[in-house]
Amino acid sequence: MFDKILIANRGEIACRVAATARRMGIKTVAVYSDADAQAKHVAACDEAVHIGASAPKDSYLRWERILDAAKATGAQAIHPGYGFLSENEDFARACFDAGLVFIGPPASAIAAMGLKAESKRLMHKAGVPLVPGYQGEDQDPQLLHREADGIGYPVLIKASAGGGGKGMRLVEKSEDFAAALESCKREAINSFGNDAVLVEKYVLRPRHIEIQVFGDTQGNVVYLFERDCSVQRRHQKVLEEAPAPGMPPALRQQMGEAAVAAAKAVGYVGAGTVEFIVEQPGGYEQPEAMKFYFMEMNTRLQVEHPVTEAITGEDLVEWQLRVAFGEPLPKRQDELKIIGHAIEARICAENPDNQFLPATGTLRVYAKPGCTAFERGTPRMDDGVRQGDAISPFYDSMIAKLIVHGDTREQALARLDDALAQTHIVGLATNVQFLRHVVRSDAFQRARLDTALIQREAAALFDQEPVGLPLAAAAAVAAQLVREQADQQPGDPFSQRDGWQMLASQRRRFAFDFHGQPAVAWLTYGQRGVAHRLVVGAGQDGTEGAQEGELAFTPLQGGALEVQFAGQRTRANVYAQGEVLEVFTPRGATRITTVDPLAHAGVVAGEGGRLTAPMPGKVVSFAVQAGDKVTKGQALAVMEAMKMEHTIAAPADGVVAELLYAPGDQVAEGAELLTLAAA
Ligand code: ADP
Ligand code: ADP
Ligand code: MG
Repeated sequence: MFDKILIANRGEIACRVAATARRMGIKTVAVYSDADAQAKHVAACDEAVHIGASAPKDSYLRWERILDAAKATGAQAIHPGYGFLSENEDFARACFDAGLVFIGPPASAIAAMGLKAESKRLMHKAGVPLVPGYQGEDQDPQLLHREADGIGYPVLIKASAGGGGKGMRLVEKSEDFAAALESCKREAINSFGNDAVLVEKYVLRPRHIEIQVFGDTQGNVVYLFERDCSVQRRHQKVLEEAPAPGMPPALRQQMGEAAVAAAKAVGYVGAGTVEFIVEQPGGYEQPEAMKFYFMEMNTRLQVEHPVTEAITGEDLVEWQLRVAFGEPLPKRQDELKIIGHAIEARICAENPDNQFLPATGTLRVYAKPGCTAFERGTPRMDDGVRQGDAISPFYDSMIAKLIVHGDTREQALARLDDALAQTHIVGLATNVQFLRHVVRSDAFQRARLDTALIQREAAALFDQEPVGLPLAAAAAVAAQLVREQADQQPGDPFSQRDGWQMLASQRRRFAFDFHGQPAVAWLTYGQRGVAHRLVVGAGQDGTEGAQEGELAFTPLQGGALEVQFAGQRTRANVYAQGEVLEVFTPRGATRITTVDPLAHAGVVAGEGGRLTAPMPGKVVSFAVQAGDKVTKGQALAVMEAMKMEHTIAAPADGVVAELLYAPGDQVAEGAELLTLAAA
């Protein structure tokens, strides 16, 4: 086996690979950029080499520096992880030329599967079913339009070199085709440097089901069953599970064999994933009727590989290392079995209630559920960050992956919900609460799966308040009293603010902001043996929907509180960030802000008229010009950051006064993009 490998990646996948290497007694070399000098993956490896500035093009994509680092440290092989250089055939070849083993498929297999159109032509020859469509070389716009008309609408135009959900356009009718083609080609050339497209039938209510394959240098190829990645936003995966719910065994075998045929057709070696789009002509209730079509092959380890590990009990990174070293596959097809059900949630720094806008910031609190790496039944958290680390704008927004296993899907789902409830992240917006809503949604629970699930269930998923004002305020008051008791010095009557003696039977007022609305809580301290009483209500005077009752609380281990108020009882962790209190309870998380009336006197609400970048990034385009009248909510500009595009909408009606940047400009967070004048 190798003595030493270099991991040409960062974050959770670099930590993931390092863990297996360590277990196998292999030394590891990390590479890192300026932003990652103190990163977890650097600490997880035995050695580390600095390879450049923070932007990927100056570090993680600089392959000559990575090869130099491997040579300088005596590494024999390079693991590329995913993203970055993992599907770069030139890099795979350069490794070979430098006498290093690329832990992945041969460059020729990467090349064969690199472009969606070419790979589909190849798959057609290998007898793998394709979505009806056009994937020819002739890119004449009129020809493409005729092909689309022939396929029948809706169609999807896809950038052949695309990935990560980018470079796709849904076209509903013939009249819209020409404009969509133009915009797709523009995005494709900008993002991938290649504007070739293919056109295919847009499958309605499809599932995304993919097959994990593995090949060795002896020519053996096996499949490690399927993963269902139907729950997506912007064509990107959110939840992934294995096996696919309702998968008929015969179909599993058929898809597995098709995937193996696909891999064999390109001489595949190592870990790969064949992605299928699956039509459900019989609806959700008739999975036997499902029809599968080849979509693309990802010639690397996939983000969601841990669910396959959980149901097979195999370590796929170990398989990768063995195969790269020239060993045969550790198992034959008939030795592989599915055990139970596994599901993964991608925890991202983003705001689901604001179009999944990515967020940057510092992980002030990062509390994880009790995790063990590879033990079934306990959650597994794959991450590349620690409390106190920053989520920077340079890389993608994924913070961690939470993977759970259960004997049944039901059990796995319950465990995931529970583990998400114990995941407390403070300091930046995350999708943790949103993930819980998806997991608990009726459609997901009943496995009524298709790629539009999130849109379909929007009403139950977005802008939810799982805790409610009374309990949130009660937890906030309880946390404040606990803090004051802790601050108090024994025997010093002047440090006592708990009110037992000093403020007996007095009422104390707490002012809050809850989802942008004022709220008030009145506390009447209980005297010895008498419980505290609390009144909580909305409005400046706290009278709207006021609830009154006893407030009781007990500190628990780990900083949590047991809080009881007005017939409700919950466990709560309250984290204060200045005036903002983040409240985590088993039923969900919320935020309540304490308002100091003196500090806020004279502050005028709302700045009006200004439009600032919500995150650092690049201006892609403006949808308006100076002088345009706009209405609240109208799209004004598109920005790109953290590998995604985001629309900036008008906060109010108005007239565009001035555009302050041009498309292509790099802007800092908070930079003013344009000014609006009152209409
Ligand atoms: P796909 O969406 O192509 O099926 P995955 O969902 O496995 O594939 O991964 C999505 C993409 O996100 C990968 O191709 C990779 O480029 C990128 N990616 C995810 N995590 C990271 C990371 N930590 N570093 C770099 N790239 C990443
Ligand atoms: P990427 O390289 O960005 O991962 P894919 O070709 O794998 O691109 O497609 C990404 C997602 O887009 C799929 O998971 C699916 O949700 C959707 N999609 C792709 N092709 C089709 C299609 N023909 N009909 C409906 N949805 C599709
Ligand atoms: Mg894909």
